This record gives sequence, C-alpha cells and structure tokens, in this order.
Amino acid sequence: MSNQTINVDDALYQYVLDVSLRESPVLRELRDKTMQLAQANMQISPEQGQFMALLTRLLGVQRYVEVGVFTGYSSLAVAASMPADGYILACDVSEEWTSIAQPYWQDAGVEHMIDLRLAPALQTLDAVLAEGQQGSYDFGFIDADKANYQHYYERVLQLLRPGGLVAIDNVLWGGSVIDTDKNDADTAAIREFNLALKDDKRVDISLVPIGDGLTLARKR
Ligand code: CA
Repeated sequence: MSNQTINVDDALYQYVLDVSLRESPVLRELRDKTMQLAQANMQISPEQGQFMALLTRLLGVQRYVEVGVFTGYSSLAVAASMPADGYILACDVSEEWTSIAQPYWQDAGVEHMIDLRLAPALQTLDAVLAEGQQGSYDFGFIDADKANYQHYYERVLQLLRPGGLVAIDNVLWGGSVIDTDKNDADTAAIREFNLALKDDKRVDISLVPIGDGLTLARKR
C-alpha cells in the first residue's frame, strides 16, 4: 500500500498506543514521574520501550549494556524481559536522574540485576573491556551525549557477542539531521555517526523511525 514510512500524526500515534501498548503499572508510574521533569524529552517513548523489550526476548538477552540511563525507563523495560539472573551494566553520570530510577527498579524486582556505574561511560566501558568482557553481551543501547556516539559504539561493539545487537537512539535528532541551519556539535556528531555506520561492514543495520529514530546494528 505504501512505498515509504507513514507519517504518524498525533491522532494516529494515539491509535498506535491504544491498540498495541502493553505498559506495566510500574513502567507507567515511572514514565508519569519523569514527564514532570523539565528534561522529560530525554525519556524514550513507551512504544519504543516495548519494542526494546520485544527485542530483548527475541535475542534471549542475558547481559545488557546501557549507555545513558537517565531515569531508568529503558533499563526497566529491558530488565523486565530478561531472566531473573540477567545482568545489566548501566552507565550514567547523573546521580540525580538515576536516583529517580532506583525505587521503580526495586518495585519491579529487577534492582539486583542492575549494576549502575556513576562515571563517564567511556571510563566504565574501557574498564570492563580491560577486565576481558569482550564478546559477553547480547544487547546494548546507546542514548547518552551525542558527541561521543562513535566512541560508545566502538566499545559496545567490542562488548557484544557475534549476533548481538546495539540500538542507537536519536539518530534522526528531531529532524535536525537534514536541517542545513543546524550545525551544532551534537547534530554534526549524529550525522557523522549515521554516515559512518552505513558502510560499516562489521554490522547489519536498520534505521527504524520509531521515537526519535533508532538504529539497530547487529554484530556480524
Ligand atoms: Ca534518547
């Protein structure tokens, strides 16, 4: 019926949620809580959380690495679809935002799975690589400062097993990627990242126009 992705306006978006969103009460509470913050737009959309949860089950994820936790919605969505003995390496620099996540992780009974490292993510990723964790993760999510996307990606790719998947968020950056008036460092970094990934033979890719654009890259 269509040879391009449909334009989802507010009414159609609401329909998507009405007929497909299955959000647990604890995820809903966390989302509502985060929506009260001035930085609420840093939270992923609920249908994206559900999509990531489905990927988690498809991949049989037992080890997940997240770069950029914010208030914990994505980590909670993924954790709830992992086995109880799963492991999440959660990287963030903000005690303020991640402390909002903690009680919701506890309510959902997943806090024991989440190893929160409050430090610059490059430092944490380099440390676990130095410990020999290469090839031991099934799934990764990159959703932190855009200027470091390429650096995060290179490290997460090393941490993944062959067949593992990394999801990279905000790759459409609100449409700024095609706005010639937008040339700030974040926008430039995302453009550069997207272009580099297109020819990256180490992965199979798909740019999924969900949320603000989510690229999936499967390690070959
Ligand atoms: Ca994001």
